[in-house]
Amino acid sequence: MSRIAYVNGAYVPHNEAAVHIEDRGYQFSDGVYEVCFVANGLLLDEEGHLDRLDRSLAELRIAAPLTRKALRLVMREMIRRNRVVNGLVYLQATRGVARRNHAFPTATAPSLVLTARNAPALWRDGKAEKGVGVITVPDERWKRPYIKSVSLLPNVLAKQAAVDAGAGEAWFVDAEGFITEGSSTNAWIVSADGVLITRPAESDILKGITRTAILEIAAAEGYEVVERPFSPEEVRVAREAFMSAATAMVTPIVSIDGESIANGAPGRFTLKLRELYKKHSLNVALRLENAF
Ligand code: PLP
Repeated sequence: MSRIAYVNGAYVPHNEAAVHIEDRGYQFSDGVYEVCFVANGLLLDEEGHLDRLDRSLAELRIAAPLTRKALRLVMREMIRRNRVVNGLVYLQATRGVARRNHAFPTATAPSLVLTARNAPALWRDGKAEKGVGVITVPDERWKRPYIKSVSLLPNVLAKQAAVDAGAGEAWFVDAEGFITEGSSTNAWIVSADGVLITRPAESDILKGITRTAILEIAAAEGYEVVERPFSPEEVRVAREAFMSAATAMVTPIVSIDGESIANGAPGRFTLKLRELYKKHSLNVALRLENAF
């Protein structure tokens, strides 16, 4: 018997079921899920799972893809079509398909996918008779931002918070009160005495490729650079601030939490660095291209 999946309103063969590559679940982990156990063809704890689904969706401001009544019908139809007796129904709702951009898309319908399968061993008592072992691991969910992982939900929520506040980026602050980096950029300031400051690229930020290039440029130009954490208070009294990324190059930051930095205009040094970065990166690209 072939398995059937549900994808956005259609029941399709499981091995042909697909969502678009720009689904935000795939691009950003921007979605939620539930797994319900099916015993003797009946959904266990259905209300609890659907209540939690509603909560998860509401927390992420994702519209419910179906009414609860319609979703309950689809779950039953999945059990029926897949002839599940003892097994699982998996459902996933994401913010939908949109051109890749961290902030929430407007007017995008959420995606809904369901799968169902028999898993009789889970209902049997084999494992329960013997029990299982456990190991301990550090709870680092998700504390490895140096990996350019697609688990970007916190970054998505931060960028949306920036958009909601009328800002262009959000800078994360760590437990000690220091800025780590932006939701999709690295963070920099130029101190009152003209020192270029950025956080060291250890495990708590993504080591931006643009950041590395800027450090090389700064060294070549003889600028004074210090890699150390800095606080929002230091940003407030900084001469300039900017962010760096492949998508931003060097982009001036002119305010923090609504307060102007210096005179609230892009800094001269920042704009010079932007020009130097453009020139330098084009030169390197040209050299590589010619050698290719
Ligand atoms: N930090 C984060 C969290 C990012 O997502 C990015 C880029 O996407 C950066 C920094 C900047 O990295 P790069 O200069 O390699 O684009």
